[in-house]
Amino acid sequence: MNTNKLSARLATVADHVPTGARLADIGSDHAYLPCYLAKNKGIPYAIAGEVAEGPCQLAERNVLAEGLSDVISVRLGDGLEVIQNGEVDCITIAGMGGALIASILENGKEKLTSVKRLVLQPNISAISIRNWFINNNWELVAEEILEEDGKIYEVLIGEKGDPYKPYKNNKTMGLLVGPYLVQKQGQTFKKKWRTEMKNWQRIYEALEGAAQSPENIEKKQEILEKIKLAEEALSYEDS
Ligand code: SAM
Repeated sequence: MNTNKLSARLATVADHVPTGARLADIGSDHAYLPCYLAKNKGIPYAIAGEVAEGPCQLAERNVLAEGLSDVISVRLGDGLEVIQNGEVDCITIAGMGGALIASILENGKEKLTSVKRLVLQPNISAISIRNWFINNNWELVAEEILEEDGKIYEVLIGEKGDPYKPYKNNKTMGLLVGPYLVQKQGQTFKKKWRTEMKNWQRIYEALEGAAQSPENIEKKQEILEKIKLAEEALSYEDS
């Protein structure tokens, strides 16, 4: 991967950044994504935010090497604190857990006033982001799922709107597996949820063999509910 050729995961994120957007890429690490977008998609302005010094220096070096310092401002800081109010209209956050992404959005809510689109790529727990969208009036407008190097990734795109719109009859299932992904029923989607189900079944069996404490019983119940939702998702037919 470099600033001309992104991984399939980051290329999918890039595909959903509108041409000409003023972007903040939070947790930018190497800054490949903003560099790629500046070179290939007419991004006139971007902030590459990084909380860790090493990756921030790497981002700075890459931006300098590409001659993009006039377009991309590399900033050291936690989450959305690197953005001034009104500075950007699109934010990307990729390659972290969904709970961390949701907490970055939650802690920087006041910076979202001018933001029209969020493009988020959680490595795990996409449900945390779908829940955050529901609680903060962001509408999930599109979802992608892809496999790269044996790992399955989801990309969630949000815009301000009606947070309940994507969820038809089974909101609980939609929040877990994705309301658009369940309708598409692609091979990667099926692989993900068959694998998750197998993992949960293994955990359930291990819990069955352990002492039946109240916590154990509650955990088993939670797992059974998730297995049921995944089963429903895999046999979903659009009505
Ligand atoms: N976004 C790149 C990608 O998808 O390839 C880098 C992903 S890397 C695994 C996650 C990066 O997020 C790390 O460089 C880490 O330091 C940074 N990070 C984690 N928490 C952060 C936060 N609260 N604010 C800014 N950056 C953060």
